Amino acid sequence: MTARRTTSLTAVVTSRFRLGEADRVLTLVSPDRGKFKAIAKGVRKPTSRLGGGVEPFAELSLGLAAGRTFDVVTQVRPLRVWLGLRSRLQSAAVAWYVAELVERATSEEQPDPALYAVLLRAWDLLESEAPDMLVARWAELALLDAAGEAPQLDACLDCARPPLAGETLRWDAEAGGIRCVAHPGGDELSSSALRLLRALRRYAPEEMVALRIPAAVMQEINRALRDSIRLLYGSDPRSRSFLDEVTRP
Ligand SMILES: [Zn+2]
Repeated sequence: MTARRTTSLTAVVTSRFRLGEADRVLTLVSPDRGKFKAIAKGVRKPTSRLGGGVEPFAELSLGLAAGRTFDVVTQVRPLRVWLGLRSRLQSAAVAWYVAELVERATSEEQPDPALYAVLLRAWDLLESEAPDMLVARWAELALLDAAGEAPQLDACLDCARPPLAGETLRWDAEAGGIRCVAHPGGDELSSSALRLLRALRRYAPEEMVALRIPAAVMQEINRALRDSIRLLYGSDPRSRSFLDEVTRP
């Protein structure tokens, strides 16, 4: 028998599907390896040694053996577990959504510590019960920034003029930012919505808990960032419809 290459690394499970009777194929994102797939064998049997270890919303130390198609998980040790997320449906929906955003933005076998940091930070925020929807919007903006598609929020895309206080603007998801209403292109964006977008880039959501954000302004930035995310990925993320369902007022 030839010795199989084994490695150990830190990663989180971002999605998974069932394989055969008892196995799961995991999609993992690691700060050291980027995105990759691995098989957790027998993990759905009640007697499994790996069992509860490969749950979502946990940072894991994994032992991996090289397999034919995918690596095989040989050991799991949880390093950090975000337990609160599992018990709150809306927080869990946002946590899965951000996991999908980060999974899709991360390339196979290419470490991207900035994207990984967005995911862990979002889970931390949700765990500390920062408002779920604010965390979702924060994560979308942080992800656009980390993916090199940072929207321009400080000056008009066309004439570079900084917006005045209280000025209504336009949001152009395709060009990536704001512009004066005098130029064509994009949907109207209120000055309150712009202020909130800028605050999300500058402050963490837990620092914004005390802010009273009108529902209409939340809806505006929801629409604006949704368009930007859709353009970045070419479609709505799969977990978006579940998120919409559990957060419908
Ligand atoms: Zn302008």
